[in-house]
Amino acid sequence: MTVNLGKVSLRSQISTLSEVTVDKDSRASRSETRTGLVRRARRMNRTLAQAFPDAHCELDFTTPLELAVATVLSAQCTDVRVNLTTPALFARYPTALDYAQADRAELEEFIRPTGFYRNKATSLIKLGQALVESYDGELPATMDELVHLPGVGRKTANVILGNAFGVPGITVDTHFGRLVRRWDWTREEDPVKVEHAVGELIERKEWTLLSHRVIFHGRRVCHSRKPACGVCVLAKDCPSFGLGPTDPMEAAALVKGPETEHLLALAGL
Ligand code: SF4
Repeated sequence: MTVNLGKVSLRSQISTLSEVTVDKDSRASRSETRTGLVRRARRMNRTLAQAFPDAHCELDFTTPLELAVATVLSAQCTDVRVNLTTPALFARYPTALDYAQADRAELEEFIRPTGFYRNKATSLIKLGQALVESYDGELPATMDELVHLPGVGRKTANVILGNAFGVPGITVDTHFGRLVRRWDWTREEDPVKVEHAVGELIERKEWTLLSHRVIFHGRRVCHSRKPACGVCVLAKDCPSFGLGPTDPMEAAALVKGPETEHLLALAGL
């Protein structure tokens, strides 16, 4: 079945685009007005919302403290592995005071599977101590306060603000930076500059969900080495279309994750 996105089906858009030889240099010389860029970026966000209606933070948590701990553990580690580790950890250390008073060797054993466990244990103990000393054991809810906590950088702060406190935040991880540069939303490499550049394109209320959608798309479709361009919902609006296979069947084999069937249906497969 071919599913229509607007007036023209995605499949016909893709087959039309497949016939075009993509000249990467032409991206640099493409003339797109600021208004055109804003409209294209917002259209792409809406398309991603159709593709990933269930996009969410893939770390499991029930409290702001648990999310902060899970985010610290997610450095250089998959969310899946973090989620396997945290149930026992959260049961053993339910409060900031528990981390502040933790026996280091015991804490390290709990978090060892996430890698870099010595550094992460140091961060969690210091985080617990800072929360107990300055915030009665609770996570503060402002960027300024969060980024001054041990082990909490701007990316972690945005994850906590957006997902635990409902304050819109743009999370620039490796997927997010890679994709928005592919889309010519920005040429910036520095995550803070990327965050500000994207923040000027997309409505503030969309920031948290946009972050999840882009990260979902990066994990499932727009891979670093071989993006699945031939079945990508963004093909029509992506200046990097053609970086990966444009043949729909070849591209379909590259799509990962539980939304695969839905994504391939949107592509008319
Ligand atoms: S068309 Fe290709 S490069 Fe562009 S977003 Fe889709 S998968 Fe990524």
